[in-house]
Amino acid sequence: MAPPTATPHVLLVPFPAQGHALPLYDLAALLAARGLRLTVVTTPGNAAQLAPLLAAHPDSVRPLVLPFPSHPSLPAGLENTMNCPPVYIPVFIHALAALHRPILAWARSQPAHPVVAVVSDFFCGWTQPLAAEIGVPRVVFTPSGVLGTAVPHSLFRRLVKRPVGCDDGFPVAFPAIPGEPAFEWREISMLYKAYIEGLVEEQVGESLKQNCLWNLEGWGFVSNTFPALEGRYLDAPLEDLGFKRVWAVGPVAPDTDAAGERGGEAAVAAGDLSAWLDAFPEGSVVYVCFGSQAVLTPAMAAALAEALERSAVPFVWVVSGDGVVPEGFEARAAAAARGMVVRGWAPQVAALRHAAVGWFMTHCGWNSVLEAVAAGVPMLAWPMAADQFVNARLLVEDAGVALRACAGGAGVAPDAGELAAVLADAVGEKGSGARARAKELAADAAIAVRSGGSSYEDLERFVQEIQKL
Ligand code: UDP
Repeated sequence: MAPPTATPHVLLVPFPAQGHALPLYDLAALLAARGLRLTVVTTPGNAAQLAPLLAAHPDSVRPLVLPFPSHPSLPAGLENTMNCPPVYIPVFIHALAALHRPILAWARSQPAHPVVAVVSDFFCGWTQPLAAEIGVPRVVFTPSGVLGTAVPHSLFRRLVKRPVGCDDGFPVAFPAIPGEPAFEWREISMLYKAYIEGLVEEQVGESLKQNCLWNLEGWGFVSNTFPALEGRYLDAPLEDLGFKRVWAVGPVAPDTDAAGERGGEAAVAAGDLSAWLDAFPEGSVVYVCFGSQAVLTPAMAAALAEALERSAVPFVWVVSGDGVVPEGFEARAAAAARGMVVRGWAPQVAALRHAAVGWFMTHCGWNSVLEAVAAGVPMLAWPMAADQFVNARLLVEDAGVALRACAGGAGVAPDAGELAAVLADAVGEKGSGARARAKELAADAAIAVRSGGSSYEDLERFVQEIQKL
């Protein structure tokens, strides 16, 4: 038997959703570049997404391909939550925990390269007892910001209930978080409501809760954030994160994404989109995209289309999944040479970095947020679900890099006139403050990841801790 190698071997367990896995792959690339050996768990339906990482680090990153654990309540073949109806997400999270046993068997068969730590997504809390069985520490990777992570953990820690008779406007306070934010019940994550209101099978609900509680027992959190964005929540350990340390290492996304095919085959080539954008003055175009999960209802899409036409702003609108745009809208936009509709996956990082793009209408998914922040593009916040209401508050109230576009959430169509006014404000004088702040924050983000910057140094410290194991 070969003696154990000196290179620390870390097991990475992503959660199979674009918004979770992509930043963990980005983190993997940063860790591999610092000399760690990595094994990344994946399933046959997700394995192709790992190809760029494996190609970039052939000697240090290996896949561990395991069959996706089937579950009677999940459609056969579902291995990723991209465009998956939200109703399946709780059971998807629950089903994934069945990877525990095959991963443990694999870990026990690695005497030449024993695993020294597990780094896993916060939806994979079950890797905490798994890591304990392997006999190594587990680090929670959070694809959300620190505030967006503290809020759901606070809920599961305190088991907050909506009093009988209170409606969706019931305010939930978070007294242990700096600034003591409060969110309305309708803004609270669907996963927490699924548990506390018994909307899912008991076993599934328990899984959701236990995942969060296990996270609080981990070695610490690695977060895709940085102090200029979330300093208020990074200054001292948070009770809602179990007083655990947080390594703030973001933005982890690579500076450029030349191919633009970040996690999907782009429906329009980055070069073609860039050439189309070249015709517009600097900062004049609104890029509209709601991530990999959210699909607008026809009524929401109709309101957005009308607002875009009324405000007459140039735009790129990414329509994902089986989303629709009103009949005739696309043809009118094309005839006026004023707008482009992308059906499917867009090269988002490349789009946000084009000089013509001045605003990003976004659902406030954390990756989209960081990509906009890094590109210096202010946002029009239209949160739909999950941590997005929390992120919107952070962007509008703390960071000053966003205006509120729509507060209704998933399924609620805004008033087209009000949305048109927001668009007009954004490109006009009223948007100048957010535009300026976005440029400042982008400069801060660039400094954070540069040698000597806060994220760079936190990452170095994290790797050093791993090397000591
Ligand atoms: N994304 C993309 N093209 C698209 C839609 C999404 O490249 O057409 C990427 C986007 O750049 C981001 C991720 O997918 O990196 C979406 O993650 P986010 O956290 O913003 O939202 P989620 O999809 O998790 O709701």
